[in-house]
Amino acid sequence: MLLKNEPLADKTTIKIGGIAQLFFLPSCLEEVEELLPLLTQDFPLYYLGGGSNTIFGKFKGVVVSSQSLRGFRVLEEDSEGILLEVLAGTLLKELIPLIFEKNLCGIETLLGIPRISVGGAVAMNAGAYGKEISQITEGVYYFDPLKGEFLLERKPRFGYRSSDFPQKGFICKVLLRLKPCPSPIRELVKKLNSRRRKSQPLELPTAGSTFKNPKGNFAGKLLEEVGLKGFCTKKGLCFSRKHANFLVNLSRKATLGDVLKLIDLAKERVLKEYDLWLEEEVKIVSTDG
Ligand SMILES: Cc1cc2nc3c(=O)[nH]c(=O)nc-3n(C[C@H](O)[C@H](O)[C@H](O)COP(=O)(O)OP(=O)(O)OC[C@H]3O[C@@H](n4cnc5c(N)ncnc54)[C@H](O)[C@@H]3O)c2cc1C
Repeated sequence: MLLKNEPLADKTTIKIGGIAQLFFLPSCLEEVEELLPLLTQDFPLYYLGGGSNTIFGKFKGVVVSSQSLRGFRVLEEDSEGILLEVLAGTLLKELIPLIFEKNLCGIETLLGIPRISVGGAVAMNAGAYGKEISQITEGVYYFDPLKGEFLLERKPRFGYRSSDFPQKGFICKVLLRLKPCPSPIRELVKKLNSRRRKSQPLELPTAGSTFKNPKGNFAGKLLEEVGLKGFCTKKGLCFSRKHANFLVNLSRKATLGDVLKLIDLAKERVLKEYDLWLEEEVKIVSTDG
């Protein structure tokens, strides 16, 4: 399905966004193969998963959403665990029934994140509490729109909140290895989710960590120390009182312009006080200025 002039705010967890000129929602991989090579010739593309790390402005281009590419199947299963093939748009929480039934470990630290998709998790190398999704990723099946073909990357390169994707192409499926959990998984997930709830504003519109942690430091701590914890603009966009590195769109009326102003303010203050340059973790997507 190809939609014109599609509003973007509700496709993200922070609820900020203008209009996308085109919004491509493939319902199968054949549609990806058919349309992506054509679209890439004429438009800038942005690949969208659950939108939990994305902040949109106005986008004169095509947003390609994995939202309708959902589902998974077990490829191998033995006493060592299972190998899963998961379509990119599948939300991690959709794997919970299987994980609970078979008591499997691997993605438990990420299950409390709202709307995180498998494709987005791999592209960002999402991680928490000492674990990253790269540790259980055994392959990424993606579509390269320039070559017009599907490819399997067995050993993608991963870094801190980064990977070869989306630069290499549109992630279609991911191979994940889940292992038997040494303790009851339900209890573990409950504990991890409660730990997350205590430290992050999960009930508010947010895009998670605004900045990456500088080496040996924490962006949240730095923002707190320069007086930005709880700081709000007139339009009700704030650095959260619970976690200074999370921007929260309290009024649901903030725009990308408000986000950029707060990002600049934070960078300036941290540079002045600590001589450190903060780098965005959130993906800012706009074709304006
Ligand atoms: C409350 C909250 C808590 C969070 N906590 C954490 C945390 O603990 N740890 C952490 O790492 N992150 C955290 N995040 C950030 C976010 O959830 C992760 O970055 C996540 O991996 C983004 O997944 P997504 O599907 O929402 O991706 P999106 O926001 O849709 O996209 C993010 C990036 O992935 C790319 N991408 C998405 N799908 C594809 C695809 N199919 N093919 C190629 N590229 C693709 C996009 O182009 C973009 O570059 C949090 C976010 C929120 C809102």
